[in-house]
Amino acid sequence: MKVHLRTLGCRLNQSEIDTMARQLQQQGHEVVDDPAQADQFIVNTCAVTNEATASSRKLIRELGRANETAEITVTGCYAQISPQAIRVLPNVGRVVDNLEKDRLVEHVTGVPLESFDQEPFSRDDSLPGAMGRTRAFVKVQDGCDNACTFCITTVARGAGRSRSMAEVVEEIRYLYDVGYHEVVLTGVHLGSYGHDLNDPDGLVKLVHAILAETDIPRLRLSSLEPWDLSPSFFDLWQNPRVCRHLHLPLQSGCDATLKRMLRRTNQVQFRALVQAARERVPGISITTDMIVGFPGETDEEFAISEAFVREMAFAGLHVFRYSKRPGTAATRMRGHVSEATKKVRSNHLRALSEQLEGDYAGRFTGETLDVLWEQVTGATEDGFVNVGYTDNYIKVRAVHPRALSNTITPARLEDYARQMANAVPIIA
Ligand code: SF4
Repeated sequence: MKVHLRTLGCRLNQSEIDTMARQLQQQGHEVVDDPAQADQFIVNTCAVTNEATASSRKLIRELGRANETAEITVTGCYAQISPQAIRVLPNVGRVVDNLEKDRLVEHVTGVPLESFDQEPFSRDDSLPGAMGRTRAFVKVQDGCDNACTFCITTVARGAGRSRSMAEVVEEIRYLYDVGYHEVVLTGVHLGSYGHDLNDPDGLVKLVHAILAETDIPRLRLSSLEPWDLSPSFFDLWQNPRVCRHLHLPLQSGCDATLKRMLRRTNQVQFRALVQAARERVPGISITTDMIVGFPGETDEEFAISEAFVREMAFAGLHVFRYSKRPGTAATRMRGHVSEATKKVRSNHLRALSEQLEGDYAGRFTGETLDVLWEQVTGATEDGFVNVGYTDNYIKVRAVHPRALSNTITPARLEDYARQMANAVPIIA
């Protein structure tokens, strides 16, 4: 069977679709890039904003038009909260809710996951790029026990639950064996890993176990809620295999807004955390998420928030415009902000993000950093255009006579322009 997989939204969704691709290949099916060749489509949807649900619907319709003979299986947060709206879309044959998602491949192929051997998935140069990357996203946790007032995720994904440490370690060993060089641990609420197993230090123990029991060269942590990090957390960076990158979603830099969002942090706590991270892990990249136009966000609150973002000197921002999500507390709040104002604020923060990103990356000009080369994006007279990332998440481009994909080499960063550093690989 030929299967075309698509995902929208967060890194967790990406990790899930990567896992499904691997499971399909292990069962002997082919993952195809071209929708016209597919017998089956799998779509992992998102519902974090109204735009995300609209994009999910649009993608399903587009796939239906691109290949009318292929059946579409839909899962993800939008499928969880609005299954009826999806079932009526053309060519949708199956809607799988988030709780059944781990067995989605079984539903599509009819073959139990336990019944096939992992070994036939031997090392093959094409495998790491099967989903177009050399970094694998590994889901270690799902669900969340918090109640941020804007968030539909707890409704869509349920309470927090963790995978066993042994299972995660085994998966990462396997990923290394088939050629991946970097693993990104993901979860809806990654910092709560182990809490449902009565282990408040679960994530720290998991990282130690991965470092001790696997040879994966690079380990990256995805989004972590700022209130989850203990003082001992930064000890993890004593091991250089842990990437110097923290994504700490702030959502607003104004205490009054944070309180209405029911976020368990404020300026004082967040500032202390960022200072500790920078003292303990020199050169660390700290990025964040921001929501603009949350109900009641006045011009003054937005100005406070923006000033705090500047003070924190993030290495980049993901900016979202608030949108009402049925079933969340914020929907019922007073003081909804006009779309025009949200647009102005998001444009403003996006421009600031670009500036901060350049300020951060520019500090490394002239330095030599290890780069994991992920793909070749073209060729010039002088060689292949290789693109990759440093451990502190600076995007790097280098023209080199060789295609360097899926290797880690040192590279000297020459300059930074248009959100990418130009570099010279140092290869003996
Ligand atoms: S911590 Fe808040 S924003 Fe994050 S998933 Fe949980 S409820 Fe949603």
